[in-house]
Amino acid sequence: MKNLLDTTPIADWTGRKTKPVVISGPCSAESESQVLSTAKAIADIDSSIVFRAGIWKPRTRPNAFEGIGTEGLQWLQSVKKETGMKVTTEVANAKHVEDCLKHGVDILWIGARTTVSPFAVQEIADALQGVDIPVMIKNPVNPDLQLWIGAIERIYQAGIKKIAAIHRGFHSFEQTPFRNIPSWEIAVELKLTFPSLSIICDPSHICGNTELIPYISQKAMDMEMDGLMVETHITPSIAKSDAKQQLTPAELQQMLLRLVIREHVSLNKEFIDQLAQLRSNINKADDEILQLLMKRMKIAREIGKYKRDNNVTILQATRWEEIMKDRVANGKMMGLSEEMVRKLYHLIHEESIRIQTEIMNK
Ligand code: PEP
Ligand code: MN
Repeated sequence: MKNLLDTTPIADWTGRKTKPVVISGPCSAESESQVLSTAKAIADIDSSIVFRAGIWKPRTRPNAFEGIGTEGLQWLQSVKKETGMKVTTEVANAKHVEDCLKHGVDILWIGARTTVSPFAVQEIADALQGVDIPVMIKNPVNPDLQLWIGAIERIYQAGIKKIAAIHRGFHSFEQTPFRNIPSWEIAVELKLTFPSLSIICDPSHICGNTELIPYISQKAMDMEMDGLMVETHITPSIAKSDAKQQLTPAELQQMLLRLVIREHVSLNKEFIDQLAQLRSNINKADDEILQLLMKRMKIAREIGKYKRDNNVTILQATRWEEIMKDRVANGKMMGLSEEMVRKLYHLIHEESIRIQTEIMNK
């Protein structure tokens, strides 16, 4: 189904004229006054911001605040009436979709815990059949691009063209500064699969705290993402969910003012010439890398033959440890990161073993 999605850009259905599209509001709708005061403060920044608030909250453990439920949809109607902002909330089943449609919710989103379940996404898609409402689809909790693509395809096949993807980071067992580790590679891979699909970033659920939000938001802009979904609360410290990661509306305004939006293409001739020259240098360097890899694999093949003819095993752990240590140290001296050199040599080693095994078995 590659490249076949003809989705409508997010700027068209949010009505936001300048980049980035911004979606903001509390993690959860908690009370009518919390919703309305947050919404009014956001609308004062710019009423073309789309207002978000979770009505049904997927909480990891039971007995936490699981959202106000359908009653909160009336508060979203008041937000629309009083501020003119468009409103969006998370849906996880057919009943949620129905309730949102009845209450005039403008845009729906599917959360990370729902995207992981093809049954749940299909149920939502079936409820959306024949309905013209935009849907944003968060990445699944685990870094599985196919699962994300599958959810997007299910909604598209229900006849929805106003679709955007939301990169909100992925669960990881690694200790990192993030609540959900960002994977820009997966987001780029998604864009390459569906070039017309708008992709926005949710720095709040990536960071899990407020300090890193400006950094991740800028990174998303530098990666040419179309927008940001940022959690804001009128009094974050007393929020009933995700208290640590919500900005105040004033902090949101500051963050947006500081964002640098770079042009996709510069029309300056000197810039274009210089970039073309640099790109041609990169192409040459890549060519050299591939030729060297070819040469290295040819040597691996010869070693394989030699080992086979002398009845020696393929894997010689001490030799491999020696190579890794030496290459990492050399790389460091050349200013290359240890992580990159390790990953690269891991791949090279894997391929050498594969080649040698092939030869052994001949
Ligand atoms: C949310 O946006 O509040 C939310 C529950 O997000 P996610 O699905 O990304 O965890
Ligand atoms: Mn949240």
